[in-house]
Amino acid sequence: MIPPPFTYAAPASLEEALALLQQHGPMAKILAGGHSLLPMMKLRLLEPEVLIDLRRVPGLADIREENGYLHIGAMVREVELEEHPLIREKYPLLHETTRWIADPQVRNMGTVGGNLAHGDPGNDHPATMMAYDAQFVVVGPRGERVIPAREFFLDFYTTALEPEEILTAIRIPTPPPRSGGAYEKLERKVGDYATAAVAVQLSLAEDGTLSYVGIGLTNVAHVPLFAARSCAHLQGQRPTPERIDEAARMASEDCDPRSDLRGSAEYKRAMVRELTRRAFRRALERAQGGQ
Ligand SMILES: Cc1cc2nc3c(=O)[nH]c(=O)nc-3n(C[C@H](O)[C@H](O)[C@H](O)COP(=O)(O)OP(=O)(O)OC[C@H]3O[C@@H](n4cnc5c(N)ncnc54)[C@H](O)[C@@H]3O)c2cc1C
Repeated sequence: MIPPPFTYAAPASLEEALALLQQHGPMAKILAGGHSLLPMMKLRLLEPEVLIDLRRVPGLADIREENGYLHIGAMVREVELEEHPLIREKYPLLHETTRWIADPQVRNMGTVGGNLAHGDPGNDHPATMMAYDAQFVVVGPRGERVIPAREFFLDFYTTALEPEEILTAIRIPTPPPRSGGAYEKLERKVGDYATAAVAVQLSLAEDGTLSYVGIGLTNVAHVPLFAARSCAHLQGQRPTPERIDEAARMASEDCDPRSDLRGSAEYKRAMVRELTRRAFRRALERAQGGQ
């Protein structure tokens, strides 16, 4: 399938990219890895007249720890996250999530910024970013603003990004000692979007209670979900099997999946409960020093 005709622009600076976005308004679209945008154009779901490719814009592809955060440039490709030693060692939830995304071909081109900005509830990074309580750095005509991941996903394929804004970076709080995370994804076949998936990030206090809990859910509602009630049930408590099971039950109650080719709504709810238990247990093991 061939996409409709468009003009291609490859700005060499962020200022130039922002000016192009302002000039062309809603008829322009940012192009990152193109693995979600181009399929939508081929299907005529989107028909932008101008594509603004960010690949030549400097400063959007860094990975570094700074001021208590892991800073990830929006144009960092999945394969770079997957192979980065810092992420493998200190951010196992992010590392696992990335490895679950699609297949190596997609991960070689797809970017973390594109994955988030697309607003697809089936994408894997949004739940993980909500579990980490990450922040998104966004630049627009009025300057820079920071949007919490938990406030970014507003509706089906709709985010808090304004049409003239560019997502430039993601900031993940560096976990304190005695932290762990895990991503559990159920898919029909390798490379598929999730039937259901759960991201868990947690930290333990000295006395063994939970000083931090973040749980995000993938593809079980029209938006990626933060499991707020489950987190509140666990926060400050000892992670007993009963409490974990109750939090998992709450997550399965609070999601809103639809029956489709991947399974019935009832099946997906049951999977959310089981995947939450599994992700939580593995995250806890990591926080307690195991792998
Ligand atoms: C076969 C296949 C299987 C896949 N399976 C999975 C999967 O299992 N899990 C998963 O998470 N994803 C999956 N994906 C999606 C993949 O991860 C995409 O690459 C990703 O969703 C989009 O990233 P991109 O860099 O390709 O963005 P693009 O396709 O270039 O852009 C996507 C959207 O985001 C906007 N955008 C991109 N970057 C920015 C920015 N910095 N600021 C503002 N707006 C921006 C674009 O304008 C566009 O609207 C799959 C894709 C394919 C083709």
